[in-house]
Amino acid sequence: MERTYLIKPLLDETLPMIDHGKGVYLYDTEGKKYLDGSSGAVTANIGHGVSDIIEAMQEQAKKVSFVYRSQFTSESAEKLAKKVAEMTPGDLNWCFFVNSGSEAVETAMKMAIQYWQEKGIHTKTKVLSRWVSYHGITLGALSLSGHTGRRARFVSLLEDFPVINPPYCYRCPYGLESPSCGSACAQELELAIKRIGADHIAAFIAEPVIGAAGGAIAAPKDYFKIIKKICEDHDILFIADEVMTGFGRTGSMLAMEQWDVIPDIVALGKGMGAGYAPIAAALASEKVIEPILAGTKVVMSGHTLSANPQSCAVSLAVLEYLEKNKIVSQVESKGDYLKSLLLQLKNQFSFIGDIRGKGLMLGVEFVEDAATKTPFSRKAMVTQKIIALAKEKGLLVYPAGAGIDGVNGDSIIISPPLTITKDEINELVLLLTDSFEAFSKQLKSDD
Ligand code: PMP
Repeated sequence: MERTYLIKPLLDETLPMIDHGKGVYLYDTEGKKYLDGSSGAVTANIGHGVSDIIEAMQEQAKKVSFVYRSQFTSESAEKLAKKVAEMTPGDLNWCFFVNSGSEAVETAMKMAIQYWQEKGIHTKTKVLSRWVSYHGITLGALSLSGHTGRRARFVSLLEDFPVINPPYCYRCPYGLESPSCGSACAQELELAIKRIGADHIAAFIAEPVIGAAGGAIAAPKDYFKIIKKICEDHDILFIADEVMTGFGRTGSMLAMEQWDVIPDIVALGKGMGAGYAPIAAALASEKVIEPILAGTKVVMSGHTLSANPQSCAVSLAVLEYLEKNKIVSQVESKGDYLKSLLLQLKNQFSFIGDIRGKGLMLGVEFVEDAATKTPFSRKAMVTQKIIALAKEKGLLVYPAGAGIDGVNGDSIIISPPLTITKDEINELVLLLTDSFEAFSKQLKSDD
């Protein structure tokens, strides 16, 4: 037995072995260099090998690496919770630490249900969501995920929580155009609530910019104001899934700030530890925590490694690094620059249907015919081919679903570390151009 580590794709002998990373680059054991154009899975927000973080890890490791959260608190957990509360808007002041985005979403769901229970309302247990969404792989989070591909095998175990269409303007389910549409896709929530009954609904959850299921689909400007108002009108909490967007990815600490909406609960992950440690959190407002503090006094969730001091110290160092280097305030202009270059590629390659996204979370959707927006056949495996070509050339990009079911379409997310420089953006786009040219040749030879 040569290899017993279950990797994806299973037993892929060609998967390179990583040696080290520095800045926006990764180096494998063969000496090949990769520009990390996706921050892994939109995670390595401050790049690789940052010495501030390594030092913080060492300092914490010298003190204590693990304590169980019901036996001890730790300085790093207390400081991190304060820092997250300071960095995020409104009265989002209470952090429950977990280890992955899926756990953050599960905790957010449970907090919402518990909130109503503490108020004496026991029927509000459903959490509604949208199609073309991804909220995590655990069964609760997968129940929320409108990702038909990832649901398929487990449908019989899942709740049917996705109930409304996504704000997917490129393929508007109503055939309308923003802004004259009045965000009909947001208005849809009102009808869904009426059909199901607000008495049964604890919360509604959405990603500000749809990631894995859609390829960086950002909602129109008025969208989340409409959603929040509908939630408030029906006594339903609003959960923002900012696992991918949180901590600066789109140009503000929470992406939701750009829609001028403060959620009741926020799921955070990825950028929180920037890949240096597994850490995530459900962040709750005073409104949500108040009845819990007055009632049971404990959030009914938790994992053995919740609030692990080592992970908390790493996350604190990451957030301080973001602040010290004023990284988030530069994201909008870097993103605009990268987007302008991608838009030029759209004129060059006929298979690019749409360029979209916010800040440094940008998406490219590929189509067989740009005029009719006809997707490629599934058999053509276009996303996989483009990703493989890019990797061959030394560029990493992230595969995402697309199409109105979030599966029958092809897209990639381009989301380099927020620390990327202008020269590195230029290099990224050159590598991407080379990859698209190689794909173009493949397409022609297939004809
Ligand atoms: N929510 C969103 C928006 C995500 O993008 C992801 C991961 N892609 C998750 C939840 C799940 O996070 P994790 O993989 O860390 O469990």
